[in-house]
Parts: sequence; structure tokens; C-alpha cells
Amino acid sequence: MPGIKGLFIPGPTNVPQAVRLAMDIAMEDQRAPDLPSFTLPLFEDVKKVFKTREAQVFLFPASGTGGWEAAMTNTLSPGDKVLIARFGQFSLLWAEMCLRHGLDADVVDVPWGEGVPVDIFAEKLKSDRAHAYKAVLVTHNETATGVTSDVAAVRQAMDEAGHPALLFVDAVSSLASIDFRMDEWGVDICVSGSQKGFMMPAGLAILAVSPKALALRKSAQMKRCYFDFDDMIKTNRDGYFPYTPPIHMLRALRAAVDLLLAEGLDNVFARHHRLAEGVRRAVTAWGLSLCARAPKWHSNTVSAIVIPEGYDSGALVKHAYNRYGLSLGVGLNKLAGRAFRIGHLGDLNELMCLMALAGSEMAMRDLGIPVAAGSGVAAASEYYRETGAAAALKKAA
Ligand SMILES: *Cc1c(COP(=O)(O)O)cnc(C)c1O
Repeated sequence: MPGIKGLFIPGPTNVPQAVRLAMDIAMEDQRAPDLPSFTLPLFEDVKKVFKTREAQVFLFPASGTGGWEAAMTNTLSPGDKVLIARFGQFSLLWAEMCLRHGLDADVVDVPWGEGVPVDIFAEKLKSDRAHAYKAVLVTHNETATGVTSDVAAVRQAMDEAGHPALLFVDAVSSLASIDFRMDEWGVDICVSGSQKGFMMPAGLAILAVSPKALALRKSAQMKRCYFDFDDMIKTNRDGYFPYTPPIHMLRALRAAVDLLLAEGLDNVFARHHRLAEGVRRAVTAWGLSLCARAPKWHSNTVSAIVIPEGYDSGALVKHAYNRYGLSLGVGLNKLAGRAFRIGHLGDLNELMCLMALAGSEMAMRDLGIPVAAGSGVAAASEYYRETGAAAALKKAA
């Protein structure tokens, strides 16, 4: 098919040209004397994306899943109790990993479409006077359902209970797209990955770890080797790595962080909110609904859209790809066949979103799903005009 394909899955996301070109380099010497002059400032600048001064950044050659493993194996011991809510495929897999690592996971099942149940967490933490919970795990943005949870509220519940557990946050599909405040929210470990808000290929697990969590590596009994923080700390201190680092990915990270900081993180978050709001207007105009059950859960990086009974969202996603070269996200697990997802994060603008909406609309109509021609595109494009160009013209007049 001539022309560009539309990549609107919630990761991997579109990679900006500056990031792609940053990777097109001759191979470098990972022990070169001048490598630290590149890596040490990079570690510092990545911390800005997490909004942390206190935490230490770790870059592991892995995907986000490896970041989960690094977080738990460096701080916990087999049998440790952790608290986690399950409300989508990613929180489900994280809970599964806890169990596979021999943790005693207290898993709270929540209807898919809602997020972390702060009230239930608050009750459990308050009644845990013996402080059996060693960590509270929060999936900031559940990518399967398009639901964002309130991390600050979980921190508040922990503080009100006077609970000393660690706070782990999976921010793989929110960091660098939705506001995240490591220090202010008292997050102990934040796990992210390269292929979502960082606009890079998959291949780096990007973590920030608080001093409190780092101190636990001395007592944590869980088996670890490749992901050992200690080995990283000893070599990162001088700007090097305990094994061959993927330098092209580090160069890409440098370019991505430069783009994010040049735009300004708050502008990045506002852009994601506005683009997402346009998508939500389109969903309403189609007469469809989001999986996210209330506006407070709406994700600014991904929308999971429920289609009418009697249609198959898997067939829809396949058709959109085959006919229009448009990649949409499938419904995962419980949402298989029932919902499709539009990923709206990363290197993205208004007209790119309209491409995703136009393609979704055409594909739905092709399959007989009753949405009015042009309705979603009209709603989103008018919203973008009113809040963008039209608003700017009005202000200038
Ligand atoms: C993408 C994602 C992950 C990690 O997935 P990988 O494929 O291992 O990078 C974890 N959590 C969430 C919420 C995600 O969106």
C-alpha cells in the first residue's frame, strides 16, 4: 500500500525523526573515556521527566515488564505481602508476576473500566497495624481499558494510615504523557519503558528508585542477577554499565528527552489532554461509549471504545489494517471482541488523530456498525479548531 501507515496502538508509538536519526550512528566503544560525559547528564535529565531530584534512574535493556521484575526483586523477599488492584490486562499481568515470584499478593479485583479503589486500599492499610504489606502497587494508566488512577490519593491514604509500605507505580503508558510527580507523590519506584511516551523503539526499561527503596536492596532476599540495582549503581556512578549497553537506544533517549524538555512537560501533558478530548468527542458523536466508566478515569493516552453487541472488534481492527493501513489496538482479555483501542500518545498532533478517527469510522461503517459518516471526525475537528486555531484567532482580534 503506498503512503504512510497509521500507527495508533498504545505503544510502540510513532518515533520522531530526530529520535530515529539519533540512532543512526556508527557503533561506539562502551568503555570510551568520554562516554560518561554523555551518560551522566543523561541520567540527570531523565530524572526531570519523572519530576524527581531524590530518586536514582536505572536504564535496563528490557521492556517495561523487565522493569516490574527489577522493582520487586531488588526490594522484596519471597512471601512478602503486597497490595495490588486488578482492572485490566496490564495490572493483571503485574499481579501475576508477583505471584510467580512467590510474593503474597493481596489482589483486589475491580470492574474493568474503573481504576485503583482508593477507599478499599485505605481500609486495608489502616487495618494492617502489623505493617504486613511491604509494597502497594499502582498501575497509573491501565492501557487495556484506558483508565488513569489517582496516585496522589493512594499516597494520601498510605500517609493517613501511617503505613510505611513502599509505593510502586507502573507508569509505562503515562510517563512523559500524563502528569507524574515522583517526589511530590512519594513514589518509591516508578517503572516505565521506552516505546510509549518516550517515543522510542521498545528495548529500554526506564526506572526511577527512591533512596528508601534503594536501601532495601541490602535486606531483600529475592533472587536477582541481571536486574541487580547494585551492579548498576557501581558502574553507573562513573557513567558506565555492568554489561554492554544499547548505546543507540541511549542516544535515542537523549534525543527524546531533549524533545520533551524543549516542549516543556506541562505543554506535553496539555497536548495529550487536548488530543484525547477530541477523540472522546468523536466517540460520543458515534454514539459509542468508552470502557472507562467515569470522566475521572479517562486516560489521555489511550481510549478503549466499546462497540455495539453483535459485532467483533477483532474483525474491525483487522479490517482497518488490511483495508486502510491503520493500526488500532485490539480489545485485550475480557475486552477481546468487545472493544478496540486508539492510542493517542507520543509524537502526535491534531491531524494525526483525525486520521485515526477517519479510519476507525470508515472501518466501522464497512462492517455495518451504525455510526454516522463523518460524525466523529466532525466532532473532533471542531473541538480542535475551537480550542486551537479558532481560539487563537479570537484572542488576537
Ligand atoms: C506497555 C505496558 C507495560 C509493559 O509492557 P512491555 O511490553 O513489557 O513494555 C506495562 N504496563 C503498562 C500499563 C503498559 O502499558
